[in-house]
Amino acid sequence: MNNVFLTPEQEQLLRSAKSMLWLNPRYGDLSAAPEMPEAHQIEDAAARLQRFAPLLVQLFPELESEAGLIESPLLEANALNQAYNPVGGRLLLKADHALAVAGSIKARGGIHEVLCFAETIAIEKGLITTWDDDYTLLGQHHARSIFQKYTVAVGSTGNLGLSIGIMGSALGFQTEVHMSTDAKEWKKARLRKRGVTVVEHETDYSEAVAAGRQAASASPYHYFVDDESSAYLFMGYAVAARRLQAQLVEAGVIIDAEHPLFVYLPAGVGGAPGGILFGLKHCFGDHVHAFFAEPVQAPCMLLGMAGEAGSEPTPVYNYGLRIETDADGLAVGTASQWVCDATRHLLSGVYTATDNQLYQQLDRLKLIEAIEVEPSAAIGCLGPEVLSSPVGKHYLETHGLIQHLHNSTHIAWLTGGSFVPESEYQTYLEKAIALRS
Ligand SMILES: *Cc1c(COP(=O)(O)O)cnc(C)c1O
Repeated sequence: MNNVFLTPEQEQLLRSAKSMLWLNPRYGDLSAAPEMPEAHQIEDAAARLQRFAPLLVQLFPELESEAGLIESPLLEANALNQAYNPVGGRLLLKADHALAVAGSIKARGGIHEVLCFAETIAIEKGLITTWDDDYTLLGQHHARSIFQKYTVAVGSTGNLGLSIGIMGSALGFQTEVHMSTDAKEWKKARLRKRGVTVVEHETDYSEAVAAGRQAASASPYHYFVDDESSAYLFMGYAVAARRLQAQLVEAGVIIDAEHPLFVYLPAGVGGAPGGILFGLKHCFGDHVHAFFAEPVQAPCMLLGMAGEAGSEPTPVYNYGLRIETDADGLAVGTASQWVCDATRHLLSGVYTATDNQLYQQLDRLKLIEAIEVEPSAAIGCLGPEVLSSPVGKHYLETHGLIQHLHNSTHIAWLTGGSFVPESEYQTYLEKAIALRS
């Protein structure tokens, strides 16, 4: 069994499923990250998304106004900031819950990886010969008849399956999504309507991924999107940081030593928040402070980041936790080792929250900002409150940030929700309202 570097007090909080803030003792320690990817891969991913943009406009007419780029707005949240940001500064919301095509943050990584695969096949089969060719050719009959021979498969708790299934089937691939027991019925139904093969597993996320990987390994025509170790997913997510940087400039927000940036990222297996973290550090260096957020029942990234470099992350089950959470997007028991080893030195810390706390945030977002998200996505809004805790204050003091808080910017990353059926959302909201004290 691997060492997990937790104090006895932290271990006690973790085991008893109490919310906590864990500060990363290896923040800034390069030796903790043996797998650091190269930053030019972010540019490669951004360029690829640009090459495919004309084709995406044809496949998804709703992308017309964005010229084929799938991007979300950065929203000012003044009212929420005034009511619930005890540390000061400005609170912004990154609205990935409203990302087109997939309705969640998975639009970034998932779609990028499907496009990578399509590009590889297209070049292999001579459909295109250079990156300057007309990519709209890949939407035509000849290309589709080739893509049709391949199956793109993935294991998912729901949202990654939606992203891969929607994009894969739009290009003409056969698609197979292995869903864990946490996956919501409406997500499965939505995929089946598009002709995606949904394989239901009575097991957790890691086992659904393993089943998909196994099924795919048998055939050269089967491509498996491996959420536990994919650089393509990771880099697709990382592109978000470059675009965020441009949005901050446009909004007149300065980020430097006197104007720190705090970002709160919901984390499941780690790919989405890890990729964004990698991108953020590339853009903002020491001026950005990133925290991951997880349900108390599924703190897998906390255990992964607190684990030893180069070794398998410890499953939350080893601490008596059972992944019982309504945050299906974060319901993961074991983190991605690849992501932990790539980003361990970049992360400031991880906080955990109970489902009741998530519902409280979901309620506030609706009430104060009229924004509807799924429970997983609400967790980022707790960030400023967590930073005002004694442990949070310790972080702020250690990094000399207290005197700059009035100049600080806080971004809660909203990661999913716009595809949630209205009746389902009402159920969430009723639960949230019942919890009002
Ligand atoms: C998948 C997901 C996340 C976290 O992404 P990981 O790559 O699993 O860490 C966060 N929020 C929502 C809504 C998601 O679907």
